[in-house]
Amino acid sequence: MLVTIVSPGIYTYGSLVLGGLLRERGHDVNLTRKLESHGEVTLLSLFSTLQLMDQGIKDFVASQDTIYVGGPVGISPEMVMGELQPTALVTGEGEETVIPLVEDGPGQSIPNLAFSRGDEIIKTPIRPAAALDHPLPIIPPDLKEQNVRGANLYIETHRGCLGGCGFCQVPRFFGRSIRSRSLENVIEEVLALKEKGIRRIAISGGTGNLFGYKKELNKDAFLELLQALSSILGKRNLSVPDMRVDLVDREMLEAVRDYTIGWVFFGLESGSDKILKAMRKGVTAKANIAAVRLAQDVGVKVGGSFIVGYPGEEREEFQETVDFLDEAMLDDVFVSIAEPIPGTPLAREAIELPHEDNPLFQKHKGEYSPLKLNEAEARCLDLMIQAEYSKPVPRAITDGLFTSHLNEVRTQGRDIIGVYGLLDKYKQYLT
Ligand code: SF4
Repeated sequence: MLVTIVSPGIYTYGSLVLGGLLRERGHDVNLTRKLESHGEVTLLSLFSTLQLMDQGIKDFVASQDTIYVGGPVGISPEMVMGELQPTALVTGEGEETVIPLVEDGPGQSIPNLAFSRGDEIIKTPIRPAAALDHPLPIIPPDLKEQNVRGANLYIETHRGCLGGCGFCQVPRFFGRSIRSRSLENVIEEVLALKEKGIRRIAISGGTGNLFGYKKELNKDAFLELLQALSSILGKRNLSVPDMRVDLVDREMLEAVRDYTIGWVFFGLESGSDKILKAMRKGVTAKANIAAVRLAQDVGVKVGGSFIVGYPGEEREEFQETVDFLDEAMLDDVFVSIAEPIPGTPLAREAIELPHEDNPLFQKHKGEYSPLKLNEAEARCLDLMIQAEYSKPVPRAITDGLFTSHLNEVRTQGRDIIGVYGLLDKYKQYLT
């Protein structure tokens, strides 16, 4: 069968893998980042709630006779079916679903599926992939030009996360137990990617060093993985950015230094223990700073992400985050306004929070008031600027840099207010 997989904007790893599965099965698969399809069947890979509000995507779905949507958005079937009306939605991992779906069409016997029958949405049971080792993925020729946070591609070495952060979809979509691919399967894929000109690869999976986890951290498996991939790609082309602060030690960080580009990116999120608890991070600000210092001591560059405007965050808690940032001396910082991703505890909490208590809906009355920002946007902008001053080599805030941060903040604020609108529309289905 002629199958087109559309992965709008960027090639998601899942779209490459599912394309490889269908190709091995004998189907003629075309993978594209553009909203176009010449297939008998179209698969649409979506990774963000924001894509459900994209008019171009809505129009594209409406133009297709047979189109199946999948990706993490599948965790909210009523929302996706309501907004896009695809032929069917893949509600879980695609491996067990995509082949029978493409070959037979939607049916109750296929797991991980939602489809409409009259006014009713039929949902079939969730079944995780039986195994994560897979045939070689589809490798489109222009993948080597893709740039996602500095890498051409994030590859998946394992699924699941031990953490239960309230804002994160990973444990809700993939579960809290860890399933890993075999090292041989990962190596085979990386060799094929390199052969096709893909040079810069990042290891993903939520928390990179959970690779090989079985009841406890498998440090040897993680070190072996880094050594093997580094010897293929060269350390300048390999990164393992995302790590939990309570799952790293000196030896792992030394491996990051010796076998990768030498960066870690910790989800630090807040300087307030009260907010870290509300986020269900499972760590304290003290543990965060200890991990930052350990990485810095080892000689690894440290980036950190922060979330502002989380339910319960008042000015005092925000000030604790500013102070934390000042102390941490991070090499890079990413700040975001709390996004209530459907399917997460945050989505439920955020939608129940009265607007007058939610910084996203409070008018900012402080130093940025001439910019007409809400309180969450103002905190986001403030932290971005503080981050520039707090770097080991402070960066001057030029007009251009200020405008760039301001535009980013306004985009985030507008998008997240849009997500609130969606949550409100489908709030009876929030789990
Ligand atoms: S540690 Fe990272 S991947 Fe795991 S639940 Fe928290 S944010 Fe998600």
